[in-house]
Amino acid sequence: MGVLCLPPLFHRYNRAFFATAIPYHQLRLSWSRRMSRAAGSYRRRGGLGQITLSLPVLSPLPASATHSTLMHEMIHAWVDLVLQRREGHGPCFRAKMGEINGQDMGPTISIRHHFPVPPSPASWQARCDCCGVVTPYQRRVKGLACRACCGRFNGGCWDQRFLLRFEAPPPTGPGPEELGLGWQP
Ligand SMILES: [Zn+2]
Ligand SMILES: [Zn+2]
Repeated sequence: MGVLCLPPLFHRYNRAFFATAIPYHQLRLSWSRRMSRAAGSYRRRGGLGQITLSLPVLSPLPASATHSTLMHEMIHAWVDLVLQRREGHGPCFRAKMGEINGQDMGPTISIRHHFPVPPSPASWQARCDCCGVVTPYQRRVKGLACRACCGRFNGGCWDQRFLLRFEAPPPTGPGPEELGLGWQP
C-alpha cells in the first residue's frame, strides 16, 4: 500500500465512533520512519497528544493494518484527552474497543498489534579477507577475527591475521541476524 494520509481517516473515525469528541486541535498525527519496534504509539506532552504510526512496520502491510492501528491509538487519545483517565489498556480502553468491534463496521481492533516487525537493517558488515565470508553487524567491534579461519589455519587459536574488516553494507534490504562469525581473544 502507499502511505495513507492520516487526518481524513482520523476525522472519519472520530465521527463514526467517538461522536467527534477527540479534540483534533490537541492532537498531532504523524508517520515515523524511525519507529520500528511497534506499529503505533500514543503519548502526551503537556496538553498535546501525539499519535505516531510506524512507516517501516505498516507500509508493507494492507491498509487495514494502518486503519486498525490508528483506531487503537485513537482510543488511547480518547481515554486520555476526553475521559482524562490514566489507564493504558484498562477498563475504559477495553470497553470502547469492544463497543467499536461490536459495531462490525470498522477495522477490528486488538490490544496488541500482531504485525511482523521487520529486523532493523545492519549498519555494518564484517568481511574476512581470507575466506571471503561477510556477516552483518549492528555496530563495529574491535579485535574480531574469523572463527572459521582461526580454526582451519591456526588450530582454533585467535590470530590477528584473520581480523575481520568492517565496511558499510551494500544498499539492499536487511541482511540476516548476526551470526556470531567473529570472536575476540
Ligand atoms: Zn495500546
Ligand atoms: Zn575467514
